[in-house]
Amino acid sequence: MNRHIAIYPGSFDPFTYGHMDIVRRGLEIFDTIVIAVANNSDKKSLFTVAERVEMINQLVENNPRVRVETFGGLLVDYVVEKKARVILRGLRAVTDFEFEFQLAQMNHTVCQQVETLFMMTSPKFAYLSSSIVKEVGRLGGDISKFVPPLVNEELAKKFGGNKN
Ligand code: ADP
Repeated sequence: MNRHIAIYPGSFDPFTYGHMDIVRRGLEIFDTIVIAVANNSDKKSLFTVAERVEMINQLVENNPRVRVETFGGLLVDYVVEKKARVILRGLRAVTDFEFEFQLAQMNHTVCQQVETLFMMTSPKFAYLSSSIVKEVGRLGGDISKFVPPLVNEELAKKFGGNKN
């Protein structure tokens, strides 16, 4: 088991400064962070998994301690396959808690050696979610404070050139 790898799973549709903050702070604790983009065909997404991976790769390409991958099926199976023990998740408001608690309990029950560690959101990103970014972007609002320029450009393309 590799104790120094953390798997950071999510939809990342799209990747925001909130996600970036968790990765940056996670790197203070773990040697390697694998950003694992869920290949969940049930969830309606704006960007395809390939588009999300491509964007995140560009955002982290100069950091050899960050990898970007995709996974399908059970998260714990993927974590074990990576020889990792830790699932890293971010926690925002109380509203995140119920679902994250359930998920962490379930994953730990299915696979005892896997632990979920939570990192509290930085206050300035507490309100930030991919859905809010998509909503504001769709309506033509300025999202440059929430997402890296690359993501901002890709969102503008999706929304028919709604440049901010
Ligand atoms: P999911 O679809 O699995 O909820 P997301 O892509 O929305 O995935 O988020 C991935 C992870 O990043 C989750 O643990 C989520 O709580 C965390 N996260 C998202 N936005 C923020 C933020 N602004 N601050 C802290 N954590 C965040």
